Amino acid sequence: MSGHNAVDIILKTGREKSVLQRHPWLFSGAIARVDGNPSPGETVRLLDFRKNFLAYGYYNQVSQIAVRVLEWDESNLVDDSWWESKIAASIGRREKLANDKNTDSYRLIFSESDFLPGLVVDKYSDYLSTQFLTAGADALKPVIISALNALLKPVGIYERSDAEIRSLEGLPSANGLLIGKNPPDKFEISENSIRYLIDIAGGHKTGHYLDQRENRLKIRHYSAGLDILDCFCYTGGFSINALTGGANSVTLVDSSKAALNMAQANIELNGLPGDKARFVESDVFDFLRESAKSGKLYDMVILDPPKFASSKAHLKKALSAYKDINMYALKVLKPGGILVSYSCSGIVSAEALKVALFWASIDADKPVQIIEKLCQPLDHPILLSFPESEYLKGYICKVL
Ligand code: SAH
Repeated sequence: MSGHNAVDIILKTGREKSVLQRHPWLFSGAIARVDGNPSPGETVRLLDFRKNFLAYGYYNQVSQIAVRVLEWDESNLVDDSWWESKIAASIGRREKLANDKNTDSYRLIFSESDFLPGLVVDKYSDYLSTQFLTAGADALKPVIISALNALLKPVGIYERSDAEIRSLEGLPSANGLLIGKNPPDKFEISENSIRYLIDIAGGHKTGHYLDQRENRLKIRHYSAGLDILDCFCYTGGFSINALTGGANSVTLVDSSKAALNMAQANIELNGLPGDKARFVESDVFDFLRESAKSGKLYDMVILDPPKFASSKAHLKKALSAYKDINMYALKVLKPGGILVSYSCSGIVSAEALKVALFWASIDADKPVQIIEKLCQPLDHPILLSFPESEYLKGYICKVL
């Protein structure tokens, strides 16, 4: 795979800087020459224009991110045992969660942030749900599966490689069982002592939004006695925590009927008072505009929208959508009310979301204080040399 027979990729003059600074992506425009004919995902050696060794990586000529860098130490050959040890190390870094009796589901491998580009592995109770998002990760599938199996002995390993970004790598979408038993259609996981039914094969992402685990718990401590509007509720995570924390009522809004049904089932599963929950199948923008007109007010509004922007081309439109939705949320809040507002768009920075909140407060004509800043949890680490890994941000705000 690597070593002396590996293909050499020689960079253009001055383009070695990002590799030296340990950024894991190398764009095709930085490459001067490819010495050989590597197959998609093949491990290569990266050399600077003077032919000094820089790093090992894997190559895909189809992708604009032509190389994902794997290893900067020339003596550490990238072979099967290299992958096995990186996988073991990533799992080992989740020790705190592994010892948490109240949570059995969390992310074990967060791709580039865990030095395993293109690979996502989520643990859902006794099953694993995986994504192989690059040709390099895809080519190593047998090695990765056998390493996961040996280390964790899951009942089954499922593949959810149906994310759009696979097409940028020239890979087809894939959804199916890799090894062991198929997970039941709906099966139970636990997260901070709350039980959820999840659907690995058909749910969003790998089955559940694991990245909001700690933020959902935080809401539990804010909720006692409040009337809460949970926008983009999906399977009810925030509302279930709010009811657990003693909320007076929760209104769950989502455009997906299936998600709302699952949310209702999850509220029942946790033995929470169903009569305190109202389910609304609607576009959130429409719902908020109507609510603002009707004069109905809440003590807390949670906004956890899907990604509004996937590339720089969509940034301006996305920021205006964040501004609008937060403005309407502020309009339906009582004085002293709480706005909890997230963005999971990687290209929308925490600062940009704050600016959108500022304009929302001006347009809603309400003074607003930020009382907490939120981000992604410890199993979705942000790698300093890879700022793209910081994607989830949120603010808890108080309307004065
Ligand atoms: N808060 C959830 C995750 C939200 S994911 C949790 O903690 O698990 C985003 C949700 O928004 C999805 O359920 C999707 O169905 C819904 N959605 C996307 N666009 C929408 C829109 N315009 N109006 C209402 N719901 C929408």
